[in-house]
Amino acid sequence: MKEIEIHGKRFIPYIAFEEIEHAIIDMANKIYDEYKDEVPVFVGVLNGVVMFMSDFLKHYPGECEISFLKLSSYEGTETTGKVKIQMDIPISVEGRHVIILEDIVDTGNTLVELHKILTEKKVKSLKIATLLFKPDAYKKDLVVDLVGLSIPDKFVVGYGLDFDGFGRNLPDIYQIKS
Ligand code: 5GP
Repeated sequence: MKEIEIHGKRFIPYIAFEEIEHAIIDMANKIYDEYKDEVPVFVGVLNGVVMFMSDFLKHYPGECEISFLKLSSYEGTETTGKVKIQMDIPISVEGRHVIILEDIVDTGNTLVELHKILTEKKVKSLKIATLLFKPDAYKKDLVVDLVGLSIPDKFVVGYGLDFDGFGRNLPDIYQIKS
């Protein structure tokens, strides 16, 4: 892994795919332990979740369904604080065990909005699992049930996460160079 540049900003290698995959396997096993007698619906938040969702599903050994929705709160490397629904879940999740899969939880604004949206859909149970979590940036009381990797409050790209639309296809995670 080498230092990279995206739109004039430098990023340093931070988490290699092997470490990401290890965390995902652990998450998939923990969730399966809890839901092996159920058919949960994994709800992914587009676009950042694509790589995580794909690898998570490969390691989830049980029966499950998936769905997606799209929200937005970031512009460049700064959160705007305003969460907008761009695309709602196209299936009914009423009465279902739903697990929100997030690529990253930062301030928690998106998560709180997401939690509200899904609770209103009368799900049977709702849990939150995130691959990356920034504990120093998190400002909410809502409990994040499962965290893959906790990271410092610094902007990261790669493995589905973008900087102004770019860098999502990098297989590893890079951190902004300060
Ligand atoms: P929050 O609402 O928790 O502040 O931010 C959640 C969303 O902001 C994430 O789903 C993700 O799209 C974006 N985000 C937060 N932190 C980062 C980061 O370090 N890098 C990238 N690329 N996106 C981030």
